[in-house]
Amino acid sequence: MGRERDRAVVLRHRPYRERDALVTLFAERLGKVAAVAKGVRTPKSRMAAGLQALTLARVDLYVGRSALLTVTGAEPETVFPRVREDLERMGRAAMCADLVDELTSEHDPLPGTFQVLVGALEALDGGRRPAEVFVAAAWHLLREAGLKPDPSRCAACGRMLDAQAAWRSGTGPVCHRCRTAGDRPARPASLAWLRHVDGEQPAAWGSRPAPPGAAAEVERWVRDFVVAHVGRVPRAFRVYDQVAWPEVEEGKD
Ligand SMILES: [Zn+2]
Repeated sequence: MGRERDRAVVLRHRPYRERDALVTLFAERLGKVAAVAKGVRTPKSRMAAGLQALTLARVDLYVGRSALLTVTGAEPETVFPRVREDLERMGRAAMCADLVDELTSEHDPLPGTFQVLVGALEALDGGRRPAEVFVAAAWHLLREAGLKPDPSRCAACGRMLDAQAAWRSGTGPVCHRCRTAGDRPARPASLAWLRHVDGEQPAAWGSRPAPPGAAAEVERWVRDFVVAHVGRVPRAFRVYDQVAWPEVEEGKD
């Protein structure tokens, strides 16, 4: 119990009662927390700007007996203005936030996840390629959650992957010995790009285009993986798909 000051990204913001809001924050030290922001929906509130969804803010929190914290102050560090001006960037940012929400539990400090999320938002705000940034961020979020498969080895037998590798939904890449009829062909260029992304830092995400078709193909793998582990399609993914979804070329070599 007591007061905490932390940097946090606002994952969700929902109206609550007359003047309040319930916010889900992902904080650098505290991890994911749910908090009530009293009076934030009144014109005089000083916290409103810092508690919009997809804002990075310095927040003051009161931690009492309840799992629900109280926000006592919020100062925006950045609202990522360029993300807000562009539907594609906004959609991708919301997908990253939703993925963090789905892959984490409350009160579990995960500084690596915070870094990936902030890195993704900065990359999107910095004008880098939204699809490439999203795929890289999602892949690294899976890693932080301890879920991602090894992009170099067969997820079934552990051998190094060969040119006839395939992708097994929800599992990862499989070699030609292990692949079955249900596995989707995996283009070598897409696997090579995924290995590149696997070792890339947020400062480089989306700065260069992926090989033709690779970002879309890897995004399908990542989405399958998320759905298999989360058990459903995250809400922001469905919203994004209603707005835009690039055509995906099925694996051709
Ligand atoms: Zn194998």
